[in-house]
Amino acid sequence: MTETGLQAEALPADLPTVPSERDLFDKFAPLIAEREALLASGLRDPFGIVMEEVKSPTVAIIKGRETILLGTYNYMGMTFDPDVIAAGKNAFDKFGTGTNGSRALNGTFHDHMEVEAALRDFYGMSGAIVFSTGYQANLGVISAIAAKGEYIILDADSHASIYDGCAMGNAEVVRFRHNSVEDLDKRLGRLPKEPGKLVVLEGVYSMLGDIAPLKEMVAVAKKHGAMVLVDEAHSMGFFGEHGRGVYEDQGLEDQVDFVIGTFSKSVGTVGGFCVSNHPSFEILRFVCRPYIFTASLPPAVVASAATSIRKLMHAADKRERLWANTRQLHAGLKQLGFRLPTDAPESAIVAVLLDDQEQAVRMWHGLLEAGLYVNVARPPATPAGMFLLRCSVCAEHTSEQMARVIGMFEAAGRATGVIV
Ligand code: PMP
Repeated sequence: MTETGLQAEALPADLPTVPSERDLFDKFAPLIAEREALLASGLRDPFGIVMEEVKSPTVAIIKGRETILLGTYNYMGMTFDPDVIAAGKNAFDKFGTGTNGSRALNGTFHDHMEVEAALRDFYGMSGAIVFSTGYQANLGVISAIAAKGEYIILDADSHASIYDGCAMGNAEVVRFRHNSVEDLDKRLGRLPKEPGKLVVLEGVYSMLGDIAPLKEMVAVAKKHGAMVLVDEAHSMGFFGEHGRGVYEDQGLEDQVDFVIGTFSKSVGTVGGFCVSNHPSFEILRFVCRPYIFTASLPPAVVASAATSIRKLMHAADKRERLWANTRQLHAGLKQLGFRLPTDAPESAIVAVLLDDQEQAVRMWHGLLEAGLYVNVARPPATPAGMFLLRCSVCAEHTSEQMARVIGMFEAAGRATGVIV
C-alpha cells in the first residue's frame, strides 16, 4: 500500500498525469498584500468610496457625512441641470430604459440621432459618431483607422484608452516624450515616408492637468504627412471660443482630423464620441468593433447628453466661474507650500504632488475626515511613478467652498507633515 491507500500496481501505466491547477491569481499576490496592508493601517480605502446620496454637483453624503466633491470630472456642473434631467425623464417615459441592441442593429433611437446632431453643431463638424463610453471611442477609432503596416505615434503619458486602442489594433506603435515637440519630430522623421501615420494627442493631460503644445505638435505631424487625433476629454466646454477644446483655443480647427470626447465629464452623463470633417467618416460605423459589438446607450442618457451639449454652447458664465475657482484653488495651495506641477493652472485639474503612497493616502484620509473628497492617483495611472491628490474643479463650486477646501488642505497638510 502506498501512503494514499492506493496500490501502485492498481493504476494503469498510461494514466496521464494531471498537474495540479495553477492559480492564475498568483500574479496578483503583491497587489493583494499591498491592499491588505493599506486596509490594516486603519485608513479609509481610497478606491472603495460610496456616494450614499448626491445633493448637487459639488456635495455628496459619504459615510453619513456631508462632503465637498473635488474629484469628479463634473467640470461644468451639468448633472443637476433641470433641463438635462427633464430631457432624461422624458426619454424614459417615451422610449423605456434601454435599447437592447447595438447601434448597428436595433439600438439607434431618435435621441442617438439628436445627440450626434448636437455634437455636429457644437464642434461645427460634418461627422459625429457616438460610442457607449469615451474609452470605447478611443478603442474603436484608434484600432480601426491605423492598420497593419501603418503607424501610431503617441505621447508617452497618453490615457489608458489610447494605449488600449493601440493594443487592440495592428499598427506599429511609436511613443514620444510627454509634450516634447522635438521628440515627436525626431521619431516621425525616422519612419518610412510611404505608410499612413496617426499622431494621437490629448488637449489636457488628466493626471497633472497640463495642456499640450498642440499648435507646434500638429505642425510637426502635418510636416511628416500624418493625420492627427486629439482627445479633448478634459477641455470640453471651457477651452476655445466655442468650448470645443484646446485645439480650438490654439487655432487648429482646420488641421485636426479627429476629435475624441466623452459625456462623462463636462456633459455630465456617460458616453463617448468622435467628431471629424473627414468625407468618409461614416464608414467607421462599419469597422469599429467597440461601436458594433456592444449595446448602445440608454435613451435617457443620450437625451440628457443632447440637451447638455446644446446648453454648453451658451455657458459663458459657468466657464468663467470654473476658471475663477481653479485660479483660487491653485493660488491657495501654492501659497501654502504644496508642490504643484504647473506654476499657474493650465486646466481645471489641480494636482498636488506627494512623496509616496503612504503620504498620499494619509493626506487623502485627513481631507475626507474633514469633509472633502479628492482623487488619489498612483502608478500605473500616473506618469513617472508619481503619487498625487488630484483635484478637479467644478463651475458650481462657490468661492466660499473653495476657501473652505484650501483651509482643509492646510489642516491635513500640517497634520501629515506634507507642509510645515
Ligand atoms: N480619454 C481621456 C483623456 C480620459 O481621461 C478618459 C476618462 N477619464 C477617457 C478618455 C474615457 O472616457 P469615459 O469615461 O467616457 O470612458
